[in-house]
Amino acid sequence: MEFMKIIRTVKEMQAEAEKLRRNGKEIGFVPTMGYLHEGHLSLIRTAKQKANAVVLSIYVNPTQFGPNEDLDKYPRDFIRDEALARQEGADIIFYPSDSEMYPADFLTTVQVNEITGLLCGASRPHHFAGVTTICAKLFHAVKPHFAVFGQKDYQQGVVIRRMVKDLDLDLEIIVAPIVREPDGLAMSSRNVYLSDLERKEASVLHEALELADLKVRGGERDTASLLKSVTAPIRSKPLLKIDYIKIVHPDTLKDVSRIEDRAVLALAVFAGKTRLIDNQILRATQ
Ligand code: AMP
Repeated sequence: MEFMKIIRTVKEMQAEAEKLRRNGKEIGFVPTMGYLHEGHLSLIRTAKQKANAVVLSIYVNPTQFGPNEDLDKYPRDFIRDEALARQEGADIIFYPSDSEMYPADFLTTVQVNEITGLLCGASRPHHFAGVTTICAKLFHAVKPHFAVFGQKDYQQGVVIRRMVKDLDLDLEIIVAPIVREPDGLAMSSRNVYLSDLERKEASVLHEALELADLKVRGGERDTASLLKSVTAPIRSKPLLKIDYIKIVHPDTLKDVSRIEDRAVLALAVFAGKTRLIDNQILRATQ
């Protein structure tokens, strides 16, 4: 496609998706909440490698925010996002309004059980129901052959894959690597909230994850000992407050006591009021 289109309604998006499919196009989809950074752009690039039509959605989904979270102050800049998406060669931006996605008579929730109560779900109890509901809706609007998510939100990837499998949704889920700032901090639209000092202290998160990775490569398998060495440097930073740090099974997200094959070290840490998440896959066999 030559020009990037901006589509604001589900009906129009569905009609465009049908047209692309009829013309034999492979549709790749990148769902985001906008305020694009290099992490988002890497997902567009991954999608472009495989698809001949790439749809980027920009929608700050209210149902995945808790009542005391940052929905109102979540950063937004559509003009900038549009320019970046165009530069990366996205074909369509799907940019619906709240009333388009959640009309006043909306009554449905798509809910994945069990794994959504662990990790981030323990402190954000309604978050994943919001994520799965909006993703189910977006998948039906965009009709993609595949959708690309970031490993940054590890649990989100697991939950979405579970929804797709359980509901027999006809698309592939691809999870792409975490893109980081030069000092290792995982890129996030929320990083703009950080004060200079919080930003400085936040770089310890990646250092701690790397330390664990190094220890596992060196033969450490005991998760209690690994968690101790990850927690200590984070605890030493006065502006950081740990929500959770866990080593879990990559699919069930349940705590593991030893690293057998693969496990995921996942953490959520507040830097001041900003909740940061990050993770590292730990491999006992390289
Ligand atoms: P968000 O706009 O924060 O909802 O993120 C939209 C998508 O971008 C999700 O699939 C995220 O996992 C992904 N993403 C966010 N930050 C990064 C990052 N630093 N590296 C890779 N993917 C990311």
